[in-house]
Amino acid sequence: MIPEKMFQQLLALGDGWRVKSTDYLKKEQKVVIRVEETAALWKQERCPHCNRPTVRGYDHAPERKWRHLNVCQLQSEIVSALPRGECQECRKVYTVRAPWEGRSRGLTQEFEAFALTLMREMPVSKAGEILGETDQKLWRTLFAHVEAAWKELSWENVVWVGADEMNRKKGHNYLTVFADLAAKRVLLAVEGKDAGVWEHFVAQLFAHNGHPKAIRQVAIDMSPAYIKGVQDNLANADIVFDPFHVVSQVARAVEEVRRKEVRTDATAREQLEKTCWLWRKNPAGWTEKESRRWEQLKDKPLVTGLAYSMRLELQKTYASGSAALARSRFKNWCAWVRAEAEAMTSGLLEPMLQAAKMVERHLEGILGHWTRELTTAFLEGLNSLFSATKRKARGYATALFGFNRTASFQSLIASSKLPFPRLAIPRLT
Ligand SMILES: [Zn+2]
Repeated sequence: MIPEKMFQQLLALGDGWRVKSTDYLKKEQKVVIRVEETAALWKQERCPHCNRPTVRGYDHAPERKWRHLNVCQLQSEIVSALPRGECQECRKVYTVRAPWEGRSRGLTQEFEAFALTLMREMPVSKAGEILGETDQKLWRTLFAHVEAAWKELSWENVVWVGADEMNRKKGHNYLTVFADLAAKRVLLAVEGKDAGVWEHFVAQLFAHNGHPKAIRQVAIDMSPAYIKGVQDNLANADIVFDPFHVVSQVARAVEEVRRKEVRTDATAREQLEKTCWLWRKNPAGWTEKESRRWEQLKDKPLVTGLAYSMRLELQKTYASGSAALARSRFKNWCAWVRAEAEAMTSGLLEPMLQAAKMVERHLEGILGHWTRELTTAFLEGLNSLFSATKRKARGYATALFGFNRTASFQSLIASSKLPFPRLAIPRLT
């Protein structure tokens, strides 16, 4: 079989295209496959402007190259001057799309499919070494495919939504990540953490075949901006406050108490030296050293210690078997914190009092943890997933250059969660 005919079959070009020549460039260790259109192409073409089958050959665009799969260890490329067609009806001239063209410029679909398969199994830089391509080009290919797959996703069954803010860089660069809590998948990442991100979410919901009125439950933290965003945009949704967020807000109040106490009391300052991590953890997570430190501190009259035991008590409330029991335990907890804070003239428990008021204000949403079937574990895991994603993207600042960075991040997050087979990697043969 002559090589041109063999490549014609291997490339599965159909009768609109033919392999004109194949050359082995010895110096460059490369196989060049030249492809051109046949007369049959114009019978199949439809005008991209008016969709009529009235296109005739006009001229040719400048020659271009596409990296293709290796042939016997040699890099190969398809070279073609793509034909331009003129519509006999609307008189518009356009360049015909090459059927082998991938989603990133200069790569064939088959090459991309192979590259994606490698990237699924190994770091992008390693895949780049094997393929002899730059990391930047491979990241672009990955983004292009993930974004295309993301656009195709249907959200019509999305009814339980979780949203969480993530700090993209150190400083004030926030993303709000929306997730489908039932399917446990990331839906969307939007820059910012204000109420406006919810409008953006609703717009995407429509674009993906979902509907805001279908959203029944939303799990969020207690930021007023998110609460307003949900109320303004998702009329049928009940708000549920995540245990994770409630506890972490109370933990932040403990930290504030510690700082205040260190500032105002010299004895306490000495006792509390280097204990910052002790109070952030649960006793089960203490190191041996931290446990010994606790033994020394537990009988001292530290306000920080009292605030910490308040936090542990609140966490225990989450073990309540029913919403009714939880309600009374939350109320008791708030009453206890109030009484202690009011009895204390120093005002050191003020942050805890604020936390108790927050629990009182949002009690119905907090109790949603018992009355709704929402699972929040996925949201809690999202932060570590996000950190992993950030690590993955570290050093690729240049690779991301020129992209919509939020979309790229979204792609990265989605690609960490979406198994690749769902991405419909194209096959030519
Ligand atoms: Zn036309």
